[in-house]
Amino acid sequence: MHEVSLIENLLESVLPEVETQRGLGQSVQGLAVTIGAMELHSAEAFRQAFTVQTRGTPLAGARLELTIVQPEVNCPSCGFHGAFPDDRIDPHNPDPIMVCPACGKPAAVEGGRGIQQLELLLAE
Ligand SMILES: [Zn+2]
Repeated sequence: MHEVSLIENLLESVLPEVETQRGLGQSVQGLAVTIGAMELHSAEAFRQAFTVQTRGTPLAGARLELTIVQPEVNCPSCGFHGAFPDDRIDPHNPDPIMVCPACGKPAAVEGGRGIQQLELLLAE
C-alpha cells in the first residue's frame, strides 16, 4: 500500500509538532495536507490510511483536510501549458509523458508530486 508509507512519513514529520502544540496547551483538531495528485492512488485510500494509522497517536480522530494538486501539461511543441485533462497517468512512472491536448504531440507532465504543505489545525 503506497498510501501507508506516505502517511508514515507524514506522521513522522508532523507528530513532534503536535506534541509541541499540546505542550503549549493548544488543541490540535486536524491536519491540512496539500499533496500532488500523482502521489495518490485515491483520496479515499489516503483518508482511510490516515484514519487507521493515527489510531493511538495524538492525531487519532483528527480531521483531515486534503487539497490535491493536479499535475500540468507543458508542451515543448506548441507551448500549451495547462491542467492535466484527466488522471490516467501511472503514479509509479517517474517520468510520465502524455499527448498534448492542444497539438497531439508528446508533452511532459509537470508538478502534482510530493507533499507540498502540512499544517496543523488548532482549536480557536
Ligand atoms: Zn502541444
